[in-house]
Amino acid sequence: MNIYLENLERIEFSVTMCCTGRCRHCSQGDHYGYSGHIDGEKAAEAVEMVCRYYDIKSLMTFGGEPLLFPETVCAIQSAAERAGIPRREIITNGFFSRDSRRIAEVAHMIAESGVNRIMLSVDAFHQETVPLAPVELFAEWVRAEGVPVEIHPAWLRSPEADNEYDRKTRELLKAFREKGYHVSEGNIIFLKGKAVELLGGAADEVPADPYEDYPDDIRALCFDADGGVLGGSIYKNDIIDIIKAYSPV
Ligand code: SF4
Repeated sequence: MNIYLENLERIEFSVTMCCTGRCRHCSQGDHYGYSGHIDGEKAAEAVEMVCRYYDIKSLMTFGGEPLLFPETVCAIQSAAERAGIPRREIITNGFFSRDSRRIAEVAHMIAESGVNRIMLSVDAFHQETVPLAPVELFAEWVRAEGVPVEIHPAWLRSPEADNEYDRKTRELLKAFREKGYHVSEGNIIFLKGKAVELLGGAADEVPADPYEDYPDDIRALCFDADGGVLGGSIYKNDIIDIIKAYSPV
């Protein structure tokens, strides 16, 4: 269909730019002044269409904080399950409500939608502005619903490094490990967005941006919260036409 997307195997949705966190390491910059989210119906339709042509192995919904709009997330994830995408993931800071009933309700919706991995951001950076109690409650409810939860920390330098951020992150992770949660290697923060300004002096080596794709070999189709993708918009054209029209130059 398009030689630049021959190896397409993943779909990602930035569901919203709204966020409950104000992380100093955020690669997306400030989250002030945003509202709204991607249209769940249009997004689900795009997933189904892409999967008719490509063997998609994984789909991720993230944000901002995607679970501010769980109905939208679940519409996308349900479409992914129906289309046969094997890995269906959410990355979340786990804080979208302080109401325990709403937290339980969202955990149930997530399980029903077929999500099979939650990557929960817990570390010194997130917990400067994201309260831990509702995050722990969410993790417990999701796990009780049978959805695997993996704690996914961001490190300033490394899991072993001796600095205030990485020490604090190790403390936070210890509590989750003791409750039986799996902790991933996480990632080293990279200098992009707010991190450039706030941590520019703290990180002396700049790791490669793990989220960059090669424009002439698109492996992940990344939808923005405003419906934008590959220079087009799913609100104006169908995704297959956008893919056909894509050119890296
Ligand atoms: S790092 Fe994640 S949780 Fe923190 S402000 Fe950015 S999008 Fe929100």
